Amino acid sequence: MIETNFLIIGSGAAGLTLAVKMGEAFPKKRITVVTKAHQAESNTKYAQGGVAAVFDLKGDSFQKHMEDTLIAGDGLCDRAVVDMVIKDGPNRLKELMEWGANFDMDASGELTMGREGGHSEYRVVHHKDSTGNEIERTLLARVEQLRNIHLLPHHFAIDLITEHHFSEKKMEELSCYGAYVLDQISGSILTIKSESTTLASGGMGMVYGHTTNPEVATGDGIAMAYRAKARIENMEFIQFHPTALYDGKNGASFLISEAVRGFGAFLRNGKGDRFMFEYDKRGELASRDIVARAIDFEMKRSGEDCVYLDATHLDINKFRCDFPSIYKTCFEKGIDIAEDWIPVVPAAHYLCGGVVVDTHGRTSIERLFACGECSYTGLHGANRLASNSLLEALVYAGRIFQYHSKNLPSPTTKTLPKWDDQGAILLKSSEVLDHKTSELQTLMRNYAGVVRNTEDLRKASLQLEKLYKETELLYRKHKLNTALSELRNMVNVSYLIIEQSLKRQENRGGFYNENFNTTHLNKTL
Ligand SMILES: Cc1cc2nc3c(=O)[nH]c(=O)nc-3n(C[C@H](O)[C@H](O)[C@H](O)COP(=O)(O)OP(=O)(O)OC[C@H]3O[C@@H](n4cnc5c(N)ncnc54)[C@H](O)[C@@H]3O)c2cc1C
Repeated sequence: MIETNFLIIGSGAAGLTLAVKMGEAFPKKRITVVTKAHQAESNTKYAQGGVAAVFDLKGDSFQKHMEDTLIAGDGLCDRAVVDMVIKDGPNRLKELMEWGANFDMDASGELTMGREGGHSEYRVVHHKDSTGNEIERTLLARVEQLRNIHLLPHHFAIDLITEHHFSEKKMEELSCYGAYVLDQISGSILTIKSESTTLASGGMGMVYGHTTNPEVATGDGIAMAYRAKARIENMEFIQFHPTALYDGKNGASFLISEAVRGFGAFLRNGKGDRFMFEYDKRGELASRDIVARAIDFEMKRSGEDCVYLDATHLDINKFRCDFPSIYKTCFEKGIDIAEDWIPVVPAAHYLCGGVVVDTHGRTSIERLFACGECSYTGLHGANRLASNSLLEALVYAGRIFQYHSKNLPSPTTKTLPKWDDQGAILLKSSEVLDHKTSELQTLMRNYAGVVRNTEDLRKASLQLEKLYKETELLYRKHKLNTALSELRNMVNVSYLIIEQSLKRQENRGGFYNENFNTTHLNKTL
């Protein structure tokens, strides 16, 4: 058994910021960070645009940033949270810069700000088009300097330890005492006992198969919290990016930026028809939600696996110059943009809901905290404003730290049971898991994707029940491995998405059920 003062699950912006702040403030305390792949692998690493924050209080204002956030959130944001996060944002970014983050600046040393969809001002702090990578680099370098932080890569958190694991169960007062963690190299399962545990385990794009998220994004933290009976909300609000490169496979997909449509590329279906004007008078330049819905509709209508972006009529030399990495990635995959259409599909991009937390990052379970994409704070409401997610991760890591500074958790005297897998057998082949994962992803894309309807959601619920039973059977009989745990987690997360989608009786923000609005596809947002 490992004993630690603070256990953090995940090494993206949220988890590492918390680790660094705890490590600096409490040199005598032990901070353990477990992360299931290489320490840098995370959604954070792939964030391109940047972090929204108001630094110029003359040209911009906190009020304007708040209004933009509230408009995107479509009536479901918590105003007090929006106010708190937006005002704290600049402090968190200054701190990152003190730790060594290089954000783009002009010749006079002022931050140069980008502007993204939904923002009324230039306020996105960035490092070229690889801001997330710069944040991750900075935080990992700082972690390395702090000797009281124990970073354990390739350690997969399986389940939170709560009263459910004790023989005398007192369910009315749930507390978290740490987690069971699989050492992915040795295969052994560790019991990590901790006075305080924070979930910073990121998003769940892999549930849909087509996603901009990396493979680690399987919603593990949310599934663990759900099994531990924490409150989980707003899981129906998922942002889909309309044009991810389709290469016939499930898994992380390369983003074809919206700027390519802005540059003049057409969207065509398999028959070669430009279809966007059937859905919106702005054609390819309609908003992200509308384009994603129109593509989804075309794919369902034709039964084809993708639609196409056609840039063959454009100035290819200029295209290569403006979009070098898109040109190169397509070329490497055998797509010559001068001659070929680019196959694209909508892809799961960001989860707005998650484990419900208060303004200190506390979940509904004692000693359990959550921050970053796995949490639901009330900032995003029904839809996320671009570049507000890294902001939320940084601010809530800071809030959890502040809470601990004033309320250090007492040591726990509980004796934790060891993980018991006696009698479990080794799963001989991974084929069955691959098959079930792909079945789940197809089900979620077809029945709980960009455009939903109540009948499909009910069908999804029934099919998922069967998949749940099959997965639980595999889980009980076999020794745990990463793929089996991830499948189990994705089944739990899918259940939450479907159930919470069925409960929502209106279209709002990123949620769309065609039963509630028959003019959906021509609707201009
Ligand atoms: C392509 C792309 C572009 C984006 N661009 C932007 C942008 O410009 N601006 C913006 O604000 N947001 C952007 N986002 C969203 C943003 O990157 C994420 O919301 C944010 O980075 C989440 O940070 P996090 O720390 O909560 O999670 P992550 O960065 O995803 O980190 C989660 C960590 O938890 C680990 N983990 C997960 N499960 C387990 C487990 N069971 N056991 C142990 N470890 C586990 C993972 O390995 C990972 O280390 C983008 C996202 C993507 C995918």
